[in-house]
Amino acid sequence: MFQKVLVANRGEIAVRIIRSCRELGIETVAVYSTVDEDALHVHLADEAVCVGEAPAKASYLHMENIISAAINTGAEAIHPGFGFLSENAKFAELCESCNIAFIGPSSQVISDMGDKAKAKTLMRSAGVSIVPGSVGEITLEEGLALIKEMGLPVLIKASAGGGGRGMRIVRHESKFKTQYFAAKQEAAAAFSSDGVYLEKLVENPRHIEVQILADKYDTVLHLFERDCSVQRRNQKVIEEAPSNIDVSLRNQMYEAAIKAAKAVKYENAGTVEFIVTDNAFYFIEMNTRIQVEHPVSEMITNIDIIQEQLKIASGMRLLFTQESIKSQGHAIEVRINAENPVKNFMPSPGTVTFLHVPQGPGIRFDSMLYQDYTVSPHYDSMVGKLIVHASDRAHAISKMKSALEELITEGITTNQWFVWMIMNHQAYVEGSVDTSFIVKNIKKLIRYEN
Ligand code: ADP
Ligand code: ADP
Ligand code: MG
Repeated sequence: MFQKVLVANRGEIAVRIIRSCRELGIETVAVYSTVDEDALHVHLADEAVCVGEAPAKASYLHMENIISAAINTGAEAIHPGFGFLSENAKFAELCESCNIAFIGPSSQVISDMGDKAKAKTLMRSAGVSIVPGSVGEITLEEGLALIKEMGLPVLIKASAGGGGRGMRIVRHESKFKTQYFAAKQEAAAAFSSDGVYLEKLVENPRHIEVQILADKYDTVLHLFERDCSVQRRNQKVIEEAPSNIDVSLRNQMYEAAIKAAKAVKYENAGTVEFIVTDNAFYFIEMNTRIQVEHPVSEMITNIDIIQEQLKIASGMRLLFTQESIKSQGHAIEVRINAENPVKNFMPSPGTVTFLHVPQGPGIRFDSMLYQDYTVSPHYDSMVGKLIVHASDRAHAISKMKSALEELITEGITTNQWFVWMIMNHQAYVEGSVDTSFIVKNIKKLIRYEN
């Protein structure tokens, strides 16, 4: 096992990784930007290195500074968390060339899967069903020809996309050109790469994803699935496990996910994402990193996925068999964001003047918040994840409602009551929501009197 690991991230995920390292007796090095000097991950780590100014490009995305920090502190491995450099093949390659273990798959796999258009082609040849669409990236002319062939509506997607950005729906041929350039522009700004591809728009699907663990010795296991259909602007808001998809379809999805991982000789933790409709599922992408919603899988399987990532990267074998991994009860996670739902979810950073966190059996709060902590406007608005685990879904929902009622984060505005409204919505309670749920019900969900 490693003796010292550098965590190349911030916020709740950096805190989460540092805690897992400590439990395994691994020393930790935090990196931080000048505005994060007082962040929880900096206080919790054994050592901390300032890697630059507040803008992510100058610090958390600054590869050379982060690699130097690892070399100077003698860290043998880097955990990239999610976002930032986690899916950057160049960074993984840089780690490899400096003899630092990158906690994730090889740079080759990251680059194969990171190009979402290329990944689909790879998956199709591996026999995994994919959403119909273009083979690889398209030019405007190719796109126009293709929509005549495959029909409308379609979705234009960024090859380098992530976080729900760089996607445009086209329902009328006359709008294709404008949307094509809009998608390209957004992709260039968000991902410094403007390649786009085309996919058939699947109306009102559910988002179901399979968690994978793979070691260096060709063992690939799944930790069941998560339903992440409650989304806003293609970004997940609530995730849960298990899903209520038909058991035989679920088994087919596990098999497809394992096949996908084996096809690229995948190593470490990963997620294979599908959209599901009318008893069919289609691969959309593979995320080659730890996922925001990994805690719900941890709760139902009782496996610490971050610890498994560390063990795998250090060369240890997975000690489970597929049969030994059991799913128990039901887990739900809500993302707590510093944002104001009634002001179109505008980010609302500020100082937490009072914090009270709910406690009790089956309640977990993964967060970087503490009293007097100032949430910075420079980064993602997610300030925590509230996760509950109970014997069944109905109990998990009532536990979540009760926990949300108890959570107090005075000083910042959050979406806490908004997710509480979802927990109380009949369609959610019935377990029948698809990805259009929030947009269709926004008026009702936002009607809240304090
Ligand atoms: P998950 O797939 O784990 O649910 P999200 O899509 O919500 O994760 O993304 C997790 C975090 O990483 C968010 O802060 C998001 O903005 C960021 N992110 C995801 N993909 C990318 C990317 N390709 N480039 C930059 N940031 C990304
Ligand atoms: P990202 O890399 O931003 O996570 P994904 O390709 O995983 O992008 O898609 C994010 C979400 O967008 C999906 O969960 C789904 O809600 C929606 N989506 C993606 N592709 C399609 C599609 N072809 N049809 C309908 N919805 C889609
Ligand atoms: Mg995705």
